[in-house]
Amino acid sequence: MELIGTFGDTREKYQGTVGLLPTMGFFHEGHLALMGLLRKQCDTLVVSLFVNPTQFDDKGDYAAYPRATDRDAGLAAQNEVDILFVPDLEEVYPVGETTVVEVGGVSQEMEGRYRAGHFTGVATVVAKLFAALQPDIAMFGRKDAQQLAVLRAMVRDLRFPVSVIDAPLVREPDGFALSSRNVRLDAEARERALAISRGLFQAAEQVDAGERRGPRLEATVRRSVRHLDVDYATLASKDTMVPIEQLDQPAVLAVAARVGGVRLIDNVIFDWHDGKPVPDRGLILAERSRLSTLP
Ligand code: AMP
Repeated sequence: MELIGTFGDTREKYQGTVGLLPTMGFFHEGHLALMGLLRKQCDTLVVSLFVNPTQFDDKGDYAAYPRATDRDAGLAAQNEVDILFVPDLEEVYPVGETTVVEVGGVSQEMEGRYRAGHFTGVATVVAKLFAALQPDIAMFGRKDAQQLAVLRAMVRDLRFPVSVIDAPLVREPDGFALSSRNVRLDAEARERALAISRGLFQAAEQVDAGERRGPRLEATVRRSVRHLDVDYATLASKDTMVPIEQLDQPAVLAVAARVGGVRLIDNVIFDWHDGKPVPDRGLILAERSRLSTLP
């Protein structure tokens, strides 16, 4: 594996189809699962590691975001990554830069209401990665369902010649969604935060039993997370992210809540098969994550 800091040097190493997995590092088993899935679909596997300042609406969150490049380089090498692209700030944001990418509509709902400018930061950095790394395929996790919808809209609108593939949401054996931020949760906060995935799974069971009313599904989640500081618990269209009252189309039931000073998001996506919603509960790990929990 090679660790490279510039766009140009990265492109020179390509052979065959190029797959890109954009990340902010501090890898956990979710990132590793995505690397494994993308590895099978490309010849040159590029993972980018860049903690993108423009997508943080909260400066404290940016400062506290876990960083460990050496650790991540070791994990990437073990997981058959060809290139770990680790640019510095100026490679991505050249001195004097003034250009941003703003995806309308889909960016405005849910996360958009609570994190001003977040998706402009995400779309801008991913547009730069697409323009300058020119991957054939790019992979994003269903963990960030709205981010996926925003980036699909961007690729459609800007005509990027990149195939966007989504990957399953990877969970702990007890259902808790993996996130780099989980290392900031102590045992008590972790226990309380389990109410998020528990509530989503209860709602998924209701859907399996025939429930289609959005307010009912949202109420189930809200009841479970009532002791947390909740930003939203919303059923929305999967493609537009506009809230819906009835589960009558591909949709996402998404939650954002703060626990112990850490903001967490989770969701269940309802795919559509044979005219019916089918909850995607994600990929449950057989063993407890070693990489995203405190020792
Ligand atoms: P991040 O480093 O958190 O920005 O994530 C990099 C990529 O990994 C994004 O496409 C995320 O959606 C994805 N990802 C992060 N956590 C998970 C998870 N638990 N399951 C699936 N994908 C994830």
